[in-house]
Amino acid sequence: MLTPIRLFHGGVMVNYRCNAACRHCLYSCSPTRQAGYMDADTARKVAALLVKGCANSVHIGGGEPFLNFDGLLAVSHELHHAGIQIDYIETNAFWAQDKNAEAMLKSMRKKDIHTLCISIDPFHAEYVPYSLPLKLAELCRENGMDYFLWKESFLSSLTRMDSKTSHTRQEIEQSLSKNYIAETAQLYGISLGGRAVNIEEEYTPLHPAEELLDEKPCRNLTNTGHFHVDLQEFFIPPQCTGIRLPLTEVVEGLDEEKYPVFSTLYHQGIAALFALAKQQGFIAAGSGYPSACNLCFHIRAFLADKGFPELDTDHYRESLKYY
Ligand code: SF4
Ligand code: SF4
Repeated sequence: MLTPIRLFHGGVMVNYRCNAACRHCLYSCSPTRQAGYMDADTARKVAALLVKGCANSVHIGGGEPFLNFDGLLAVSHELHHAGIQIDYIETNAFWAQDKNAEAMLKSMRKKDIHTLCISIDPFHAEYVPYSLPLKLAELCRENGMDYFLWKESFLSSLTRMDSKTSHTRQEIEQSLSKNYIAETAQLYGISLGGRAVNIEEEYTPLHPAEELLDEKPCRNLTNTGHFHVDLQEFFIPPQCTGIRLPLTEVVEGLDEEKYPVFSTLYHQGIAALFALAKQQGFIAAGSGYPSACNLCFHIRAFLADKGFPELDTDHYRESLKYY
């Protein structure tokens, strides 16, 4: 039994559905993910658990939180009611041209929501014309909402493309750089999990699985420096997405025996998980893997179909789509 884990800083993921399917999305969100959205009852329970775990502030993300504005306000209300500060809400700004956008900002300000994190970069520009994050930033300035563009440093290169439309990979390769995917990933310093496993596989030399096996315990699994909680009340560790644990158990004490994949990685690392997967029929790819974490992803993707409760089957299926 793991002792209760103290929560530091994290995010509340209100949905997995998104109007975009960015190639670097750590949570593999997309238009085809389940349409569910965190309801007020769940938000109340999550807020109580966050308080119990000593987290006093969170950001809100998804998916795209603004796909259900009333739902977003309801979740925000429950967090505030529990005394949890909302540091910022993430958005890709798809709604900036909505006729109600200004009214939405005003009603958020009235409810003490003070900051938006607005995504802008070449990966988002494949789905959202970059005029929209700029438009939303302008509306924020006019309506007293703080914001930051994540990341503003991409703006100078984006201005080489038409801001009014989204762009294909081929168009961006022609306008920015043949290597914009690798360069953007490097400038961001992104985690190469979720859909970004494809980026790492395309741009990094591959090694045989046996060369990547490490017996070091994966203690990142209980790191709560940038954890997330999803709409089904699961705790998701930073970076190792696709693994999820009930938030209640994380906060109150985790019965590890119920979660063999988690427990194996946590105590014995990727080498032991590889051995466990081989017993289940896993065969390593002859072409190899770019890193131990990438191998871990593919082992878990294989094991997800075997019914391990800590593995999110949808995550693995969606990670390998849209690339
Ligand atoms: S990175 Fe953000 S905008 Fe892009 S698919 Fe993921 S949740 Fe949606
Ligand atoms: S090997 Fe797996 S569990 Fe360990 S840090 Fe990498 S992704 Fe996370």
